[in-house]
Amino acid sequence: MKEQKRNHIFSWALGLLGLCLCGVLLATDAPVADAATMSSITSDSIKDKQQQIQQAEKEKKELQNSLSDIKAIKKSLESKKKDLKNYITELDGNLAKIEANVADLRAQITAKEDDIAVAQAELDAALQRENNQKESMYARIKMVYEQGNASWADVLLTAQSFGDFLNKADYVEKVIAYDHQMWEEYKDSRQYVELCKEQLELEKEVLDQAKATVEQEQAALEDLIAQKGKDLLAYESDINNQAQAIKEYEAEIQAQKEEIEALEAAINEEKKQILASNGIVLTYDGGQFKMPLASYTRISDDYGWRIHPILKRQQFHNGVDFASPKGTAIYAAYDGVVVASTYSSTMGNYVMIDHGDNLYTIYMHASKLYVSKDDIVVRGETIAAVGSTGRSTGNHLHFSVRRNGNYESPWDYLKK
Ligand SMILES: [Zn+2]
Repeated sequence: MKEQKRNHIFSWALGLLGLCLCGVLLATDAPVADAATMSSITSDSIKDKQQQIQQAEKEKKELQNSLSDIKAIKKSLESKKKDLKNYITELDGNLAKIEANVADLRAQITAKEDDIAVAQAELDAALQRENNQKESMYARIKMVYEQGNASWADVLLTAQSFGDFLNKADYVEKVIAYDHQMWEEYKDSRQYVELCKEQLELEKEVLDQAKATVEQEQAALEDLIAQKGKDLLAYESDINNQAQAIKEYEAEIQAQKEEIEALEAAINEEKKQILASNGIVLTYDGGQFKMPLASYTRISDDYGWRIHPILKRQQFHNGVDFASPKGTAIYAAYDGVVVASTYSSTMGNYVMIDHGDNLYTIYMHASKLYVSKDDIVVRGETIAAVGSTGRSTGNHLHFSVRRNGNYESPWDYLKK
């Protein structure tokens, strides 16, 4: 309130200043000299601010529309449950979309935090500038009033000669122009400060909105994974389609095997050609594997023959399942070359690494893949993130080791 009143009086005083510039005498060196050092706000900087505000408003609106419609996704999936493979592929497609949205939102949050730091710095500088201008004008007004009521005509009439008269007239003109410009600059400064404040508030709102959206998207992701787990369990444990479920499961394991064998065959062929042209091929030096996960909560299914937990019959499990939170880093167990980094409806997002001498490791059900085919990786390098894609009922890593065309216990390589 106090500030407002003061500004009101100040505006009035400046208006008056316009009328009684007459009062200005010649001893006005100090404020005039200030003009050059006071950087001014240009119409461009105001336009820039207005554009930034529009941009933030647009971002806010876009954020409101960027939430995945989990209800619609579930409804659309409902009709696809009869065909399990189709259902999994469709659901995983949605997981990937939400996952990408989450990554996008996280990037927006980082960028917004930077924008806010810049906007805050700009506001601080603008406030400082406004304050300097105000101080300078107060000094100017004070001086004008202290000079009494001499009119500019008096100033001119005191001229000693015609030359002096012209000099003085020129000076008075300059002073009037200077005061006018000063006032315009001050008005621009004030407008700029208001715009800076508006932008900063808006950027903070966008940041809050982005943080809320990312949390909702995360929840949608978990919800969809949980739904998938429930649906798969329900399907497999339904007595009515038990026989069908077993058949499908075995067919999927078979398809998986064929996919992997085809990859191995292609690599063998490639290596034969390299050897034929006297090139060097990768060899395994027998070193110990690194645990392929940053951390895990439990081994949810070990390697070997066991009663399948849902199908309730003897099945061979060709890897070790490590239950681990979504997003946990998956490491390359050993140095090698990535031979596959892709999606299949059984393995989900998976990576297969060639370590030489017909030794391969396979990492399944990832939420994200960080490597591509032909990438060279070193032991312990992050290659993917834990997820629940493919035939999976919850977040876990299925880790398999293959040697000379057969599955081997990963423990033989992890514990030496
Ligand atoms: Zn498994």
